[in-house]
Amino acid sequence: MGRSIWWTRRDLRLFDNQALGAALSHSDQVIPVFILDDNLLKSRYSSQKRLSFLFGGLQKLNQDLQPKGGRLILRRGPVRHSLIELLRETGADAIYAEADYSPYARQRDDDIQHGLPLNLVGGTAILHPGSVLKPDGNPYTVFTPFSRVWKSQIDAGLGSIIPTPERINTPDNIASEDINVLMEGYQEPLFPPGEAEGRKRLQAFIEGEASALVYRYHENRNLLGIDGTSKISPYLRFGMLSPRYVAHLALAAIQKAPDATARKSAETWLNELIWREFYIHILYHHPRVRKENFRQMDIRWENDEDKFEAWREGQTGYPIVDAAMRQLRESGWMHNRARMIVASFLTKDLLVDWRWGEDWFMKHLIDGDPSANNGGWQWTAGTGTDAAPYFRIFNPTSQSRKVDLNGTYIRRWVPELMNIPDEFIHEPWTMPAGLQNKVGVKIGMDYPLPIIDHHWARARALDVYGKAKP
Ligand code: FAD
Repeated sequence: MGRSIWWTRRDLRLFDNQALGAALSHSDQVIPVFILDDNLLKSRYSSQKRLSFLFGGLQKLNQDLQPKGGRLILRRGPVRHSLIELLRETGADAIYAEADYSPYARQRDDDIQHGLPLNLVGGTAILHPGSVLKPDGNPYTVFTPFSRVWKSQIDAGLGSIIPTPERINTPDNIASEDINVLMEGYQEPLFPPGEAEGRKRLQAFIEGEASALVYRYHENRNLLGIDGTSKISPYLRFGMLSPRYVAHLALAAIQKAPDATARKSAETWLNELIWREFYIHILYHHPRVRKENFRQMDIRWENDEDKFEAWREGQTGYPIVDAAMRQLRESGWMHNRARMIVASFLTKDLLVDWRWGEDWFMKHLIDGDPSANNGGWQWTAGTGTDAAPYFRIFNPTSQSRKVDLNGTYIRRWVPELMNIPDEFIHEPWTMPAGLQNKVGVKIGMDYPLPIIDHHWARARALDVYGKAKP
């Protein structure tokens, strides 16, 4: 039956892998390949933490392949050249890969399909972006009708889950870069890479009958001090989890929900997975959003460099914003509600262009993804598809009280505020001087005063946004 190449990119897993499945049914020897592409590894969006997670994931994949007679071959780009060499060296007659719908990947794959036997199977989104369309054939630009049609198509779109293959025979004597060299200087991220860890997290979230976390998602998802969300985003980002499998479990959880509240929770979680799909589709149909507002709006950004730096460093004087920005820097991840708070603070309170924030997130998030990140930023900045109305400006203090009542999250990431009484944890600048002395934190010295007055900034944003309305 010959040989084929399984070119893995954002699908670093063996379970429910449609591209790998197609390669195995086409040939009896399969060559798993990952190509280190400098266009991606050295792009301005590249992030040390994300790269560590990727390299760790490659090592895990190689370990998972070995007991099955397989091995991961690592090559360094340019991609087209690497594939031509591999086809020649191995005599393989086909390449199988999962479709990736980002603008860079599409252009790369189009180029490779000219002249090389590249077959794209399955995709980073469950439903192909060309398949969820309005009756007039145009793509949706609003989430709710998109999600309705997505749900009506999902049963057919899911197909059956493909088990982990028993054998993957990779021929010997195929040259590969040394994976251990990649791992030099590797720092174990807070999210251990690999398919097994992704599955473990997914199961921890979804299993447990009536008490499963998925059934409490609706009430817990906005609380920053607890693990109320699944934390699977890095694993979906690199395909260490199959999005089809995740959706399959979400749908099963909805069906098995013990009561209406639990059902609503599981439905809310499925909706988040659909947001992921929605933004992949948006970027596919509107690649211009990478650079431009989705809506035509001419916002007069202030773009104050010093304020931007204070935001980046977690030194704004607003504890909830600073906790979130430090969580991002230290762990490479941030809670969704915190992402919304800091993005609103940057774009509305500080009037800094959302593209600056998007860029910073991409440089630090392990789950940094061009579609979800762009969608999240444009939504919060009020320039995107279902954008938050321009007058919805998060108040960092009242948000803080709502989502981190006792300051657990703030104290975890802003240790200088550790001893501040709950009463002042959200607005430490209101703490009387005597108390500041007593708890050993002088506001303005040990922790900054707010870099901007929220009420004043809100009025300014309303004015600027009011003039920029489409
Ligand atoms: P859960 O709440 O358990 O949700 C399950 C999965 O659904 C997530 O893993 C994710 O894949 C998907 N999901 C959840 N919320 C969203 C959403 N709003 N948009 C798209 N997909 C979603 N998500 C990324 O994966 N990569 C990014 O680069 C990214 N950047 C963001 C930037 C901003 C400004 C905002 C507001 C949101 C961003 N998100 C991004 C979406 C969201 O914050 C994360 O997906 C979520 O916090 C991941 O945590 P979780 O896995 O526990 O999610």
